[in-house]
Amino acid sequence: MSHDLFEAARGAMAFAHAPYSKFPVGAAIRAEDGKVYTGANIENLSFPQGWCAEPTAISAMIMGGAKKIVEMAVIAEKLALCPPCGGCRQKISEFASKGTKIYLCDETGVKKTMTMDELLPFSFETELG
Ligand SMILES: [Zn+2]
Repeated sequence: MSHDLFEAARGAMAFAHAPYSKFPVGAAIRAEDGKVYTGANIENLSFPQGWCAEPTAISAMIMGGAKKIVEMAVIAEKLALCPPCGGCRQKISEFASKGTKIYLCDETGVKKTMTMDELLPFSFETELG
């Protein structure tokens, strides 16, 4: 992974709206158009209405006109590495291939590299995909 993706994820974390959990998370996607799209978690006073950093980044990618995740970095300052939650794994999977690399980072850099298939084995998929 080139360093810019990690830096983008770390920079995105600063935009987190996490007044309740105090657990900022950042995510960065390099899409098939070569651009980097970022996201942070956005919490809400009504807890179920908040969402994670990964769907924020996916939203930015889609609205930027891209559809395919080439690689992705996720960072949380309070965890040595921050694996995407179960729901996010399914959301990422929608726009990733089995071999797409997901980098789990801390403040200093990449701590673990996983493929989409390792994060979400035996994933829900159809002939349509
Ligand atoms: Zn999540």
